[in-house]
Amino acid sequence: MLSYWEQASLLRYDIIIIGSGIVGLNTAINLKEQYPGKEIVIFERGILPTGASTRNAGFACFGSVSELVDDLRTEPREALYSLFKRRKNGIDLLRKRLGDTAIGFRQDGSHELLQEHETDVLDAIDDLNVLLKDLDQNIIFSEAHDHIAAAGLSPAHFRYCIAANTEGSIDTGRMMKALMQLALSKGVIIKTGVQVTRFEEQADGVRVDAEDPLRGSVINFNCEKLVICTNAFTGHFFPDMDILPGRGQVLITRPVEGLRLKGIYHFDKGYYYFRELDGRVLLGGGRNLDFEGERTMQMGANNTIVEHLIYQLKHDILPGNHFEIDLQWSGIMAFGSSSKTPLLYKHSDRISGAFRLGGMGVALGSQLAIDLSRLVSE
Ligand SMILES: Cc1cc2nc3c(=O)[nH]c(=O)nc-3n(C[C@H](O)[C@H](O)[C@H](O)COP(=O)(O)OP(=O)(O)OC[C@H]3O[C@@H](n4cnc5c(N)ncnc54)[C@H](O)[C@@H]3O)c2cc1C
Repeated sequence: MLSYWEQASLLRYDIIIIGSGIVGLNTAINLKEQYPGKEIVIFERGILPTGASTRNAGFACFGSVSELVDDLRTEPREALYSLFKRRKNGIDLLRKRLGDTAIGFRQDGSHELLQEHETDVLDAIDDLNVLLKDLDQNIIFSEAHDHIAAAGLSPAHFRYCIAANTEGSIDTGRMMKALMQLALSKGVIIKTGVQVTRFEEQADGVRVDAEDPLRGSVINFNCEKLVICTNAFTGHFFPDMDILPGRGQVLITRPVEGLRLKGIYHFDKGYYYFRELDGRVLLGGGRNLDFEGERTMQMGANNTIVEHLIYQLKHDILPGNHFEIDLQWSGIMAFGSSSKTPLLYKHSDRISGAFRLGGMGVALGSQLAIDLSRLVSE
């Protein structure tokens, strides 16, 4: 049974946001800046955010050439241009909001590595530079094959290399901490360990139910507006929505002596990515080895993929170097069955949300949160 005080003061908010990932936090900050007098609370089911935002690779990237070429097979050129622009804007917004030092931003550029059979990707460079030239005065993509030997990568495996000067990396942990601190400093309330189980629109607002394991009961909160930022976990509320969870595996080595990598790297249409981080190598990806196995909302290791990642470290990324794996983890992304465009969703005047950020939510999150805040304010 709730106390008189709890019922009188602790159950009603102006705006409830579900999910404290990049989108939930940015949306809360935007709405609090717009409506300083409103009580805005974020409900997060985990003690820490438990989706993708604290478990990613920290690439501030917009898309590699092979990935963009692949996307052109299914997406019209205008859609690709618009998605690239939104990713670029999103990174600019994140940097402006939090500052480069707070998020550990480094603009060391990126390299895409290609195998012998991928020469068609090189042929697409000029076309993509023309398509994207309005977004950047510099040439975005250029051939940089010498980098393979310079970085100590296997020239037998990687034959060609494309550099992109505008991409960079962030320190994901520091970025999320800075976002949380900014939200708290503006007066946003963040409640962790609150798993929302259902919601229901009512005449005077929205009832939001959350489990309370300590009391062994469900608590009914109320709000004027509900904002859903649950990305891969949105199917719990909207089972018919085109959102497929996709788990991503990541591992990081201990510091490697004589490491010559610089910035961020992608290969195989973006399915694999690695970077230098504090003298270590962070490597992730390989979902294409087991799409079905990784279509899950449960964190956990996929041994086939992890073993393959270690094989790649040994033979292709750090050939001849001694290395040890320090940590391995996973995170859950959200994909559409055929589109890479995120979903901005208005369920009703009181309920809206934004989800399905794919593998580039660090880049897309801030921009999407602005669009979502506008939708909530309408
Ligand atoms: C392994 C990996 C590597 C990645 N690498 C990159 C990268 O290098 N660059 C890049 O741009 N993007 C990357 N991404 C993608 C990026 O991290 C995501 O697109 C982005 O973080 C999504 O943010 P979000 O706020 O929408 O979702 P999330 O961060 O998943 O947040 C959703 C939150 O909602 C909470 N939640 C869910 N259901 C409930 C409920 N019922 N009640 C309460 N809370 C709930 C979850 O616990 C979670 O904290 C990567 C993702 C992964 C998994």
